[in-house]
Amino acid sequence: MPAKIIDGTKIARLVRAEIRDRTKALLANHGIKPGLAVIMIGENPASVVYVRNKVRACADVGISSQVFNFSANVSEAEILDCIRQLNEANNVHGILVQLPIPEGISVQHILETISIDKDVDGFHLYNVGGLVAGDAIFPPCTPYGVQKLLEYEGIELEGRNVTVVGASNIVGKPMALMLMRKEATVAICHAKTRDLAQYTIIADILVVAAGKPNLILPQMVRSGAVVIDVGINRLPDGRLVGDVDFEGVRQKAAYITPVPGGVGPMTVTMLLHNTVASAERIAARAGRAPAFDQAASG
Ligand code: NAD
Repeated sequence: MPAKIIDGTKIARLVRAEIRDRTKALLANHGIKPGLAVIMIGENPASVVYVRNKVRACADVGISSQVFNFSANVSEAEILDCIRQLNEANNVHGILVQLPIPEGISVQHILETISIDKDVDGFHLYNVGGLVAGDAIFPPCTPYGVQKLLEYEGIELEGRNVTVVGASNIVGKPMALMLMRKEATVAICHAKTRDLAQYTIIADILVVAAGKPNLILPQMVRSGAVVIDVGINRLPDGRLVGDVDFEGVRQKAAYITPVPGGVGPMTVTMLLHNTVASAERIAARAGRAPAFDQAASG
């Protein structure tokens, strides 16, 4: 029987409905409208589309958004200054810098300048360390989205064999850490892995984020596996595909995500989730402050 197709668009809609309820509650109970600030440097065409989608998605769930556009030859000092101002802004609960950024500006400097309380992309070293230690304030959006998809489908992770193909800082590595936290047995593969198939074939759950169309063929997948395709590749004929031979692998797997319509819609959704969670944390802290002051003065 062909695999069940995991409908990321539908699950994203369900998660967004919960987020919308939370933004309403924040406004009603605390007078807070969650806010996201997006810094964009240069005019990378893909980034323009991603940022537009993020702005639309924010509006859809009651989050206000501001985009700060800088030309590609802006100085690093100017960007860091903008981030520091946003760190202090009461109406901003999440800050992200749309990657990639032009050479000459250090991603590391940017990430370490964003307040850990507003690091909704989850790329600050503090959040990365949190993932390693077992908990992060803001898990990075794409692996977090994959985790949510698995959760919504009721797919158990404890004790299962998971293979993650791709070991980038934004997808593969945090994904592996999050799955380890769920007590899965995790193998991580990358471009230098010899005989990729020997790792993919043992996977109960296979997560692929390499950026290589048709990397995963049916003979590399175990019958009944769960296959999550994070890859997004534009073919010369204009088609958008993942890293998995979708038609072939779906005959063998138990579950599979399509591209588009699988992990993609979840990534933006988890950014909204992190932004609302940040506003809730800040509201809770503000709510606690007077009680603490009273106790301290009493
Ligand atoms: P990246 O280029 O930073 O990392 C790719 C990783 O894959 C590296 O670890 C590399 O060693 C590994 N790799 C490359 N070729 C391989 C091969 N032949 N065999 C095994 N491993 C190989 O990419 P990234 O930013 O992690 O993104 C990966 C893919 O996921 C891209 O297609 C990207 O567009 C997509 N992506 C999708 C979303 C989403 O929301 N769906 C979000 C982020 C990235």
